[in-house]
Amino acid sequence: MLLPLTVTTLLGAAPSFETTFEKSGGLRTGRLEEVARLCHDFEALDPETTRARRRPVVLLQAGIHAGEIDGKDAELLLARELLDGSAAARDPTLRLVLQKVTLVLVPIFNVDGHERFGPRHRTNQIGPEESGWRVTSQNLNLNRDYAKADTPEMAAMLKLLGAWDPVLYVDLHVTDGAMFQPDLSVQVQPWLGPSPLAAKGAALSRAMGERLTRAGHLALTDFFYPEFVRHDDPQSGFAIAEATPRFSQGYWAARNRLGMLVENHSWKPYAKRVAVTLDTLRALTAEAALHGDDWLAASLAADRKALKLPGTEVTLETSPGSHAHTLSFPGYAYERIPSEISGALWTRYDQSRPEIWHIPLVDEINPKTVVRAPLGGYVIPAGYAQVVEDRLTLHGILFKTLAERPRVEVETFRATKATSAPAVFEGRTGMSVEGQWKPETRDLPAGSIYVPVAQPHGALAMALLEPLAPDSFLAWGFFNACFEQKESMEGYVAEQAAREMLSQDAALRTEFARRLAQDEQFRESSAARLLFFEQRAPSWDEKMNLVPVFRVAREP
Ligand SMILES: [Zn+2]
Repeated sequence: MLLPLTVTTLLGAAPSFETTFEKSGGLRTGRLEEVARLCHDFEALDPETTRARRRPVVLLQAGIHAGEIDGKDAELLLARELLDGSAAARDPTLRLVLQKVTLVLVPIFNVDGHERFGPRHRTNQIGPEESGWRVTSQNLNLNRDYAKADTPEMAAMLKLLGAWDPVLYVDLHVTDGAMFQPDLSVQVQPWLGPSPLAAKGAALSRAMGERLTRAGHLALTDFFYPEFVRHDDPQSGFAIAEATPRFSQGYWAARNRLGMLVENHSWKPYAKRVAVTLDTLRALTAEAALHGDDWLAASLAADRKALKLPGTEVTLETSPGSHAHTLSFPGYAYERIPSEISGALWTRYDQSRPEIWHIPLVDEINPKTVVRAPLGGYVIPAGYAQVVEDRLTLHGILFKTLAERPRVEVETFRATKATSAPAVFEGRTGMSVEGQWKPETRDLPAGSIYVPVAQPHGALAMALLEPLAPDSFLAWGFFNACFEQKESMEGYVAEQAAREMLSQDAALRTEFARRLAQDEQFRESSAARLLFFEQRAPSWDEKMNLVPVFRVAREP
């Protein structure tokens, strides 16, 4: 259930309301019913009207992890103070918000999780007294679901994002983790790389740091998530990183817009965290009022630049480098002592003794997976088209269904090695492959689809379709059956076939002899020796390990 709340035309028309959060002195948070009631009368605009006005849209999303619900109460307070004029009285820039920006509020994304309400759902967090649960009623984490889009909640969110097309998409969380002094971290993406938006993202991040500091908060805005490089060890420091499209901010950046991840610090009391979030929302809406038009222009420039993607090198994943500098980080005194409970080291913090940690911050980020975009685009053969079509539509990726096309020059990717993940993750068995694209001629059956790369969401299409991309359909296990052998030769048949093949093919005799001489594993495995012949026999399944995504230089 999504409750888009637009507050652009309601200045002076605010209904009076008081939330459970306020009535309880900041100790409790309300239920779904409260949000539905308070938001009911607010909706004033629709996406079409907003598009016609060419105003920048900012979407504020709370409760993707419903136990981390600070954003919901802060959004309701923001809506009221914008509507009753008290925000403008405090800060003249906030007067501009309602004139310049369309706000879309999603107070609770994970509604089922929110209504799984109880007192002990967030042990690493001080308040509220009762809250919702991290995941959905299908036990799935929505902040891993952007690329694969398995859940009904995500399908609804992707439709909402597509309809409103926010230039800034804000995702409000509360982090778990160590005890330290900073109140929150703010990570904006993109902030580096070739996108025309990167400079805007970096500037927004800096501006957030300045505004939050002026408001009296300790904010982390230096592009790292406050999680130690080595689990539970403050001395290991932090590393800057970019999120892949499974995460909100990585996903929205892949769609040429600004994504912002806000992580409140769990060890601050609830009332304080909501106040921090409200100041965060004030800061980012003020920035949107001042710079939203610039962001929009840069976003549209990024869309246009994407039309030139074909043939260029695209970074699909980055990883931290080795360069680091020393960070002076406000933490607390702590000791790491052997524990008779766990048998491991126990990190014991003393919150009465603030101290500055001098710890490494890895400040280098390197391309990890780089792929040259195809000159035309991708073809998904008919049998798999229906596996991906709905998701491509949700992602706003344009494609076209083809009539039968015989003998098309394509590039195919046959996995030389396919390894399934050792454990189920987010309800899926992931797959990783090795191999490379090679030219081939194939018949495309009617109903195959063509996805051009030269489109605003071309980079997202690559992130979903390139086999080596970390959040590709392949990586999430959509194509696992391609890596299963479904027909095989009985051993006694293979023995006979091998003899016939060897008698007719001198080169094969040489290759077999060489493998026997040089490859001990091969020599010791009767199965591998028979497979050697099976793979070279006419009966071998040519589709075995063939990824059902082809690259083409032009529309077939
Ligand atoms: Zn979270």
